[in-house]
Amino acid sequence: MAGWDSSFLRLKRALPSSLLDLHALIERVGYQAYIVGGSVRDLLLSKKPKDYDLASSATPEQLKALLEGIEGVVLVDLGRAYGTLGVSFKGYFFEITTFRQEGAYHDHRHPSALSFVQSIESDLARRDFTINALALHPQKGLLDLYGGLDDLAHKRLRLVGDPFLRLQEDALRILRALRFASTLGFTLESATQKALWAQAPLLKHIAKERIRVEFFKLLLGDFANTTTQFQALLENTLQARFTHLDALEKTPPNLRARLLLICQSWDSQTLRDFCARLRFSKKLAQSLCQLFRHIPLEPIENPNLWLKKQLQHLHLGQLRALLGFYQAQDPLLSARLKRALKRILKNHEVYSLRYLTLRGTDLIELGFQGAQIGALLQACLEGVMCGAVRNDKGALLEWLQTRLGDRALLG
Ligand code: ATP
Ligand code: MG
Repeated sequence: MAGWDSSFLRLKRALPSSLLDLHALIERVGYQAYIVGGSVRDLLLSKKPKDYDLASSATPEQLKALLEGIEGVVLVDLGRAYGTLGVSFKGYFFEITTFRQEGAYHDHRHPSALSFVQSIESDLARRDFTINALALHPQKGLLDLYGGLDDLAHKRLRLVGDPFLRLQEDALRILRALRFASTLGFTLESATQKALWAQAPLLKHIAKERIRVEFFKLLLGDFANTTTQFQALLENTLQARFTHLDALEKTPPNLRARLLLICQSWDSQTLRDFCARLRFSKKLAQSLCQLFRHIPLEPIENPNLWLKKQLQHLHLGQLRALLGFYQAQDPLLSARLKRALKRILKNHEVYSLRYLTLRGTDLIELGFQGAQIGALLQACLEGVMCGAVRNDKGALLEWLQTRLGDRALLG
């Protein structure tokens, strides 16, 4: 059959045995199954796939009937109307989607009809980029109907079929193009790029949640500086003005660090509005807004003490994001702070009241009350943090006593 490339049978060796077993189970009874999407692309790029998607001629009901009861198989319903079944098997999780083609799109994002089809060829035609439209069969080899291998070799992103129509169907593909440019370091083939700009206004029809998912993946790419080429497009889509897009790669691939980097010139209300508009989770929005208050970088004399003070207000993950953000501004300082943080954690140095050996109950026993207790504990913590006293209950009480002078603590 045209399009089969048997030289890629070598890819089979890279597949987990559980995937081969699952494939064999499905094909043994006469259905077809192929490994498709990002995993095939990543294997060809010698990257470890994040997950494996399969496309099959079997419907979710048929797959369910086939796989239910098999030892070690756990089935997860992932929206059977769309033909996807989740299968957890021997430590891996697979998504199996029934071969399908999409009818006309009525609103630039939802096909008006989804129909199951019997051939992998029709299924591949609905996929976005040629490099994502490859199908791998463990015995037959690799099916490349749209020149995906050539585009992979040339690090090129090309939409399958007519680029204008494909973006008209689903404008999210515009952001997916920018996302893959950022994660893979590929360039956009010229017709695809032209269509991208021409169809950009259609992105307003796309659900903000879907946009957010692609935007986050784009931010985390190893080649995220490429985003500068599409700054205007991104800014119009997200209704925001970004700075420092060309410094993204200087920042580690940490979502909060990279968001802080490109939003650093905003005021806090603009940040809150942006988080709400893109439907950030409450947790992420809160964490960012809190971090936002910490970004002005003052001169740091004592990194150890500075870090411990930050940890009074920030979780460890937040502090790491902050140091990641500083990496683009001042790499030497950021490296120094990272080393100091590593030491603090390794030596279990005290930076929180949780780790203080003196407890509130000790002070209550000594007759202290209310706000006094908090203030004394905080004084002890700061004493320990700057090395004025050891984190030892007796030493702390003695230290407090000398500091309190006449107001003797002990008796
Ligand atoms: P990742 O490694 O980030 O998961 P991926 O290529 O697997 O990348 P997914 O979003 O998981 O991306 O989608 C799986 C596959 O489904 C894609 O490779 C592509 O073939 C197809 N696909 C996903 N979204 C679209 C879309 N909007 N239009 C057309 N095909 C799509
Ligand atoms: Mg995927």
